[in-house]
Amino acid sequence: NIRPLVAGNWKMNGLKADLAIAVEVAKGYDTALKAVVDLAVCPPATLLYTTTAALIGSRIATGGQDCSSNAGGAFTGEVSAAMLADSGASFAIVGHSERRTLHGETNAIVKAKAQAARDALLVPIICVGETKDEREAGKALAIVKKQLRGSVPEDSTAAGLVIAYEPVWAIGTGLTPTAADVAEMHEAIRTELGRLLGKGVAASVRLLYGGSVKPSNAAELMNVAHVDGALVGGASLKAEDFLAIARAC
Ligand code: 13P
Repeated sequence: NIRPLVAGNWKMNGLKADLAIAVEVAKGYDTALKAVVDLAVCPPATLLYTTTAALIGSRIATGGQDCSSNAGGAFTGEVSAAMLADSGASFAIVGHSERRTLHGETNAIVKAKAQAARDALLVPIICVGETKDEREAGKALAIVKKQLRGSVPEDSTAAGLVIAYEPVWAIGTGLTPTAADVAEMHEAIRTELGRLLGKGVAASVRLLYGGSVKPSNAAELMNVAHVDGALVGGASLKAEDFLAIARAC
């Protein structure tokens, strides 16, 4: 049995005053919830250190939303995995569709970032997912498998890897795949990871679903086989909604 993880991706939202959201989440993360689900908050890099500090003692982890594939040096504007770790992060989201699309990140780049995250002892949350056109063309499974083959480091361990399936067309749109489609995809992801990492490892890697997860649809999505939690965008900016999603696991 895999312990679920609900991670909030704040994206490019959050000023100091929004630390209050994380503090609210910590207040609501009660004993009953702690018994069943792990939580993580991924604020913008500027808030990572203060968010981690605000969450000390809460057992809520923090993560970065991206990291450089380079360890350090002349890369103006980039943030290294070691810097995220130094700011208290436990996770680094890599290969989010917004990075893949808006910043041209290829599978090879995502893999290098996942490797950099692991070198800094962070757990990479590697995002995969098909576009609307790819789904309509019946290519969703093939695309996601290819992303996995290209972006997951071969020597990943179960505890050192999280996969987030985020169909691009479901992100920020209010649209979600059917439970049957999520079930088919997550099973295919587990099988493909088995080929890449061995069945034993693949069996306990956490597979998150992301894309328009809300309190109203969380229970249905979280109860799908091979769904071990959620990567939450918009709804993670409201403590009550984020906690309601966590309760649905
Ligand atoms: P939304 O929950 O806002 O659709 O975003 C999902 C996402 O991209 C999380 O990484």
